[in-house]
Amino acid sequence: MNVHEYQGKELLAKFGVAIPAGFAAFSVEEAVEAAKKLPGPLYVVKSQIHAGGRGKGKFKELPADAKGGVRLAFNLDEVASHAKEMLGNTLVTVQTGEAGKQVNRLYITDGVDIAKEYYLSLLVDRATGRVAFIVSTEGGMDIEAVAHDTPEKIATVTVDPATGFQPHHGRAIAFALKLKGDTNKQAQLLAKQLYDAFLSLDCAMLEINPLVEDVNGKLLVLDTKMSFDSNALYRHPDVVELRDETEEDPAEIEASKYDLAYIKLDGNIGCMVNGAGLAMATMDIIKLHGAFPANFLDVGGGATTEKVTAAFKIILSDPAVEGILVNIFGGIMKCDIIAAGIVAAAKEVNLSVPLVVRLEGTNVDLGKEILNNSGLPIVAANDLGDAAKKIVAEVKKA
Ligand code: GDP
Ligand code: MG
Repeated sequence: MNVHEYQGKELLAKFGVAIPAGFAAFSVEEAVEAAKKLPGPLYVVKSQIHAGGRGKGKFKELPADAKGGVRLAFNLDEVASHAKEMLGNTLVTVQTGEAGKQVNRLYITDGVDIAKEYYLSLLVDRATGRVAFIVSTEGGMDIEAVAHDTPEKIATVTVDPATGFQPHHGRAIAFALKLKGDTNKQAQLLAKQLYDAFLSLDCAMLEINPLVEDVNGKLLVLDTKMSFDSNALYRHPDVVELRDETEEDPAEIEASKYDLAYIKLDGNIGCMVNGAGLAMATMDIIKLHGAFPANFLDVGGGATTEKVTAAFKIILSDPAVEGILVNIFGGIMKCDIIAAGIVAAAKEVNLSVPLVVRLEGTNVDLGKEILNNSGLPIVAANDLGDAAKKIVAEVKKA
């Protein structure tokens, strides 16, 4: 789960992290009221969407030379005019895809007089199984180019969970950022605060880009991107409350209501599978046979008729879907129960696209019989490869 920049910063502030003052705003009036509470004379009007690259982003509704989604304002009138141009409009950035995201919230912050921009992020490094700090002296809006062209300018510091964060980690990070004197001390403290926040909040990723040093030598977190481990959200009701469903795919929200693990993809073959590993293998084999999966969907171990029906509806809500491949291994679940569920669900949703079903496991013969006698144009498949070939052929035929 992701949160907006302002929400992430408010969470970090509780751990003592230094952030510029700011307030969220949902209308032009609120934006001006927010600015009035700040010292001025420099303000920043920031579009709040769950995507980065806002500064260099473009609004679909505005002329091509209009400013992006993060703008400086030098008085209240400019705050108002920027807010007016952003709210309700669609911001397209390198991270949103072509469709862009509608800006419904703003964050009005105290403008910082920046001396230098740095990069700092924390993530769970799967290779080492540890939390890792990724830092660079070359922060700001071109970090992707730095990673690509000059990877030696990016340093990694990992923390062994057995020791937790130690002062030497802080020193290594401050050293990698080439900081001296008091800013070096500030960076050590900040690293500890961010590590504490990352662990306490069960973050999956925490990115500060840029971390800035202002003209007075103060380190400030200027931008925050934060995402949380969804398996740990039950421990953080306060974080769950920050969820902004308008930022999420409606089909994914619907799926989560039925405890279905669904992720929308760009292809035309809908997949319904039990087990995440089998779902991945199914997607791979669809690609192997020349088509692309329209989604990842794991119906889980207890695939009831209700769940299967909901899954069909969710898959079919994607207009790109031209065929469905069901691949179920009846281990805990018996194949006849699953087959009955598929038939009932297909009838209920008036299935209009080709459906290929591969069943294997307990009571598989009974299951196949139910599918064959259903009167529905279901194509039975014998194994995974056969199933993928058949659905690709069916879709080409249609
Ligand atoms: P992003 O483009 O989505 O990553 O949004 P950021 O919050 O990182 O802002 C983009 C850029 O705007 C930053 O890299 C800064 O260069 C600039 N910016 C943001 N806030 C301020 C500020 O308070 N003062 C100044 N001078 N520039 C800012
Ligand atoms: Mg940024």
